[in-house]
Amino acid sequence: MSEYDAIILGAGAAGLMCAAVAGQRGRKILLVDHAEQAGKKILISGGGRCNFTNVHTAADRYISANPHFAKSALGRYTAQDFLALVESYGIAWHEKTLGQLFCDGSARQIVEMLLDECDKGCVDLSLGRAVTGVDHADGRYRVSLDGRTVTAPALVIATGGPSIPKMGATGFAYDLARQFGLKVVEPRPALVPLTLGGDETLFRELSGVAAEVVATAGKTAFREAALFTHRGLSGPAILQVSSYWRNGQPVGIDFLPDRESGWLPAAKRTTPRATLRKLLGGTLPDRLAETLSERLGMTSEISTLTDRKLQDAERALSHWQFTPNGSEGYAKAEVTAGGISTAELSSQTMQAKRVPMLYAVGEAVDVTGWLGGYNFQWAWASGWAAGQVL
Ligand SMILES: Cc1cc2nc3c(=O)[nH]c(=O)nc-3n(C[C@H](O)[C@H](O)[C@H](O)COP(=O)(O)OP(=O)(O)OC[C@H]3O[C@@H](n4cnc5c(N)ncnc54)[C@H](O)[C@@H]3O)c2cc1C
Repeated sequence: MSEYDAIILGAGAAGLMCAAVAGQRGRKILLVDHAEQAGKKILISGGGRCNFTNVHTAADRYISANPHFAKSALGRYTAQDFLALVESYGIAWHEKTLGQLFCDGSARQIVEMLLDECDKGCVDLSLGRAVTGVDHADGRYRVSLDGRTVTAPALVIATGGPSIPKMGATGFAYDLARQFGLKVVEPRPALVPLTLGGDETLFRELSGVAAEVVATAGKTAFREAALFTHRGLSGPAILQVSSYWRNGQPVGIDFLPDRESGWLPAAKRTTPRATLRKLLGGTLPDRLAETLSERLGMTSEISTLTDRKLQDAERALSHWQFTPNGSEGYAKAEVTAGGISTAELSSQTMQAKRVPMLYAVGEAVDVTGWLGGYNFQWAWASGWAAGQVL
């Protein structure tokens, strides 16, 4: 039986960071993953270029039952700290948009960097072996791996959430948390495309058409691109609001966020022979302009329409309501919202308050970031926080 100072379950973003930090502090660490390869989600992230952080990271860009929980870890290990690490490895990067930092080359560089950091901390890696049991007795955690048992006084849950199960993602973190009596906030797919049914299936004909919109769910709005798909709605604006969306709620779309009120009656005076489709076509893709005009029943020249009708159309175009009948689920969700309740954990160390030396980090915890590098920054910061105290 091998003995360690800490066993970290999950060699993803948070587990790798946690292991490297604790290992470099002189702790004897075992990092375990059932996958054959560490950091698989990092490898496919950001279209293969890994959007590794966001310079605008702040706790208000995360969803959690306790919106203050993430502040401590995010404040102590910042986007600049991770960027300094990236630069120390000579990894070239660029800011794409909205503070999102990507590798110029490949996401593989981030995984190699983290593995190198683990090497510097003499971390033992156990890949490709399933965890078949975990228990706690006499102050030690005993983890059974296929054919091997390892023990340590500290255990870190870093196995992420169940998004993209075909990559080996599981709800194991929640099972383990429940085994030790920790509450779990109902998990749900987030950063996920939404599906349309009923009358709204007509919009599926627009599959492939994108436009910059303001999308709203509840009180939260994002201005980014929305994309029609063969199943419904996607694109960054929709992925962002999906994390706030609940079944049965409408999603609001402002198709014309830059148009001022009264533009259509004004257009009637300057270009009376134009159709709504033609006018919208100046701003929106033609197929979308056509569908929206048809749905509004306004296909004739605008000179034939009353100002009242034009004002109603304006309102409809800036407050379009879709009522998604669901989402594409964990199969397509970039992250899982919900997870191990923050009420169970210290925000300073990520240690469970009621279970000795049990920690949870990364996506397994009920902290879910916006699209754009925020989820990795949470993984780095929470992994770092636990790594400091193991
Ligand atoms: C397609 C895609 C693209 C993404 N792009 C970005 C991006 O560009 N920027 C960003 O910030 N976020 C991105 N994300 C989200 C980001 O990948 C996750 O939030 C982040 O990886 C979470 O880190 P984690 O360490 O908590 O979990 P993970 O990185 O998911 O790691 C968990 C690890 O635990 C292992 N594991 C699971 N179950 C078990 C088990 N039973 N036994 C042993 N090991 C287990 C898994 O194999 C995995 O290696 C993306 C996600 C996806 C799916």
